[in-house]
Amino acid sequence: MEYKIGLIKGDGIGPEIVEEAVKVLDAAAGKYGFAFNYTDICMGGCSIDRFGVPLTDEAIKAAKESDAVLMGSIGGNAATSPWYKLEPSKRPEAGLLGIRKALNLFANLRPSVLYEELRSACPLSTATAKKGFDLIIVRELTGGLYFGERYTKDIDGTETAVDTLSYNETEIRRAAVRAFDIAMKRNKKLTLVDKANVLDSSRLWRKVTSQVAKDYPEVSYDTMLVDNCAMQLVKDPAQFDVLLTENMFGDILSDEAAMITGSIGMLPSASLNDSRFGLYEPSGGSAPDIAGKNIANPIATILSAAMMLRYSLDQDKAAEGIEQAVRQVLKDGHRTGDIMSDGCHRVNTDEMGDLIAGAL
Ligand code: NAD
Repeated sequence: MEYKIGLIKGDGIGPEIVEEAVKVLDAAAGKYGFAFNYTDICMGGCSIDRFGVPLTDEAIKAAKESDAVLMGSIGGNAATSPWYKLEPSKRPEAGLLGIRKALNLFANLRPSVLYEELRSACPLSTATAKKGFDLIIVRELTGGLYFGERYTKDIDGTETAVDTLSYNETEIRRAAVRAFDIAMKRNKKLTLVDKANVLDSSRLWRKVTSQVAKDYPEVSYDTMLVDNCAMQLVKDPAQFDVLLTENMFGDILSDEAAMITGSIGMLPSASLNDSRFGLYEPSGGSAPDIAGKNIANPIATILSAAMMLRYSLDQDKAAEGIEQAVRQVLKDGHRTGDIMSDGCHRVNTDEMGDLIAGAL
């Protein structure tokens, strides 16, 4: 079996961290008996430099022809980079929004895992950190408040701003199906997070999601109001497995869930559409301050590659193998600078990639 993988190395630390993920993917392919055929896709600042725009039709075509796309990060230093003298629609980040739209990536997955070895970085109480947690937020990415009609106008002599929050059952159902499929690959527990005591859109989310739940009798399904969920995430995150929610609630809760791990540089993410295709990338940015120094942490990108194996390529064993290799390397005390602590062994970007590939 050979998979076609698009690689968007991007800007800043992007090329360095993607290179390490490829090293680990190739090691996994060797061990688990499949192969990769990689295609470089130019997007972001590097595309502006080469083609004058952050995303070309050729880049979209190459992404569409791939089984999945692994991305590093795009963008530069907004204060010093010439890319940010361009109008917003021509800047690097417009490439990312453009490709999400072109590929209809409506479900955003952000896992939040507290690694045993990194528990001292967790800002929660010692008892909560000791318990650990491993949850994933499935956020609807292309509907809701961020995409509704909006305007600001004078109404009866008062400046008034209006943002509309709308969802239809098709948008909800496809996100819910994705989330239940993911729950089936995890601990089979799903919580819908909403504001159904106030919002009509949340009541539709409840109605449609409970219909979808009937197709997944093995998954234990419940609901929670978003304000309670924000509290529960800091009080007892271990109670959660899969959290499904709409765009804005997901935006806020996924950052909260990332922060409680204490090490955002470790967190992967995925954006999926209704085929098996997905775009996989670390949660962090292009870190222009450390680009080219071989000191960036490649683990979030390596774990994004593991997500790609699980969700787009159905190679769950290889995904678990990579996740286990990351745990082993951390257990052995190896750390990049951003997660360094007393008594550990400091390594560079490429050494971390070698260690994880070796641990497979
Ligand atoms: P950033 O995440 O790039 O950096 C914030 C801090 O975290 C910096 O000190 C950086 O050195 C550190 N950091 C980030 N990733 C790291 C890693 N893998 N290893 C070690 N340290 C790491 O955020 P920023 O500085 O606000 O943004 C820089 C650029 O990245 C901007 O152009 C922004 O638009 C872009 N960005 C891109 C994406 C994306 O490609 N999806 C996401 C966020 C930000």
